[in-house]
Amino acid sequence: MGVEFEPVIGLEIHVELKTKTKIFCGCPMEFGGEPNSHVCPFCLGLPGALPVLNKQAVEYAVRAGLALNCEIVPYSRFDRKSYFYPDLPSAYQISQFYFYICKGGHLEIEVNGEKKKIRLNRIHLEEDAGKLLHSGSSITTSQYSLADYNRGGSGLIEIVTEPDLRSAEEARIFLEQLRAVIEYTGVSDVKMEEGSLRCDANISLRPAGSSQFGTKTEIKNVNSFKSLERALEYEIERQREILEDGGVIIQETRGWDEGKGITTSMRTKEEANDYRYFPDPDLPPIVLEPEWIEEIRATLPELPNAKKERLVKELGLSTYDAGIITGSRALAEFFDETVALFNEPKTVANWLMVEFLSLLNANNMEIQESKITPQQLSSLLKSQKEGKISGKIAKTVFAEMFATGKDPEEIIKEKGLVQISDEKALASIVEKVISANPKSVEDYQGGKKNALGFLVGQVMKETKGQANPGLVNKLLREKLD
Ligand code: ADP
Ligand code: ZN
Ligand code: MG
Repeated sequence: MGVEFEPVIGLEIHVELKTKTKIFCGCPMEFGGEPNSHVCPFCLGLPGALPVLNKQAVEYAVRAGLALNCEIVPYSRFDRKSYFYPDLPSAYQISQFYFYICKGGHLEIEVNGEKKKIRLNRIHLEEDAGKLLHSGSSITTSQYSLADYNRGGSGLIEIVTEPDLRSAEEARIFLEQLRAVIEYTGVSDVKMEEGSLRCDANISLRPAGSSQFGTKTEIKNVNSFKSLERALEYEIERQREILEDGGVIIQETRGWDEGKGITTSMRTKEEANDYRYFPDPDLPPIVLEPEWIEEIRATLPELPNAKKERLVKELGLSTYDAGIITGSRALAEFFDETVALFNEPKTVANWLMVEFLSLLNANNMEIQESKITPQQLSSLLKSQKEGKISGKIAKTVFAEMFATGKDPEEIIKEKGLVQISDEKALASIVEKVISANPKSVEDYQGGKKNALGFLVGQVMKETKGQANPGLVNKLLREKLD
């Protein structure tokens, strides 16, 4: 039998800060826009233009650090990371290398019902690079490349984990949980599709039980949670095959090819001294007052893990349901507001997870974009509970609320969907169904009790789902027993 290998994974996550302007100049931070319309002499790297640090970017980094249990470092500084590539017009990136703003930290995740703490190494502030568009497949094989510096100079935090993750699934769950925490803090949109959340994955294998780490590769270009998991699964297999054949892993940066489902070598890994890091002489150090840090801490909202625990312990939701409801702040707030008006947490959670999320997904919408309010959902649920409408009709009304934003009462009235609870009205339909289905009546009276369900169904069909099912049941039994 061969050696069992254990994956060792550490992530480097870039989060684009949702500040109004870039981190060192006054250019607006907006996704998209005409190429090179959000630029100035500083973010174009023109000689003589000087940086001015955006205070909100510092506040956001501290806010994220507090939410992730980091130690906030009272004195940090900016360093120049030199590299020559046209997405960086000054040929250096302003980053933090020697003294960064947040140290340590951790985030708890839950994998297959088990809780696990993933340690962070640090969080540092830096500026983003611009975007290149090559005429060919890469810069070296292109006739020309187009450079758009709109994104250049945007404020980022880079979150670096310790190599604590042990599977592709764990890495995906960690990134989802991290996304939720950052979303709750409000410092970023954290959208992988738009690039405001980006993740590089470092991965190595080692013989199970070993305390040493193997040589790692770094995977870039993962654009979704699913592709992070797929890319890591692929890379684990690739490395396993090499090691099993007695080969060695080359330390390198590899690119994930989503279409082909493989990673390919991009470049052998550079060392820190290749970057010639040195303190940026144009920027003063960041000195943080403890009072300011406490002010920021005081404004943190209830975070996903705490909220999840509350929903399980106090409201009786399952861990799974609580995990989904707290997966986004907007959904969790919608839930809280609805429960405050209609105090049946499990019913509300079900409606959100089954009806609401599937409509949102089908329409490719975020909950914030929906027209439905917690008030409207709670009054729909009240109407159902009071028997004014059936469960089936409630779903129809909900879909209509989703499409139009109208109040449920209005839709029920407009479409004449009120549940029929009038015995006289139902009696004649019951008669009709009985005489139209002699076989089922015979079955029922001959002891096949589930034939009643069929007859109830026929009455529901006749009334387009509006009959009160309890009452139909009672009327049928009275006639047949
Ligand atoms: P580098 O010097 O190559 O940048 P770092 O030590 O700064 O490496 O770590 C970068 C990331 O790689 C971190 O997230 C860390 O947890 C992870 N990492 C470090 N060593 C390994 C390893 N042997 N296998 C997997 N991940 C690792
Ligand atoms: Zn600028
Ligand atoms: Mg490093």
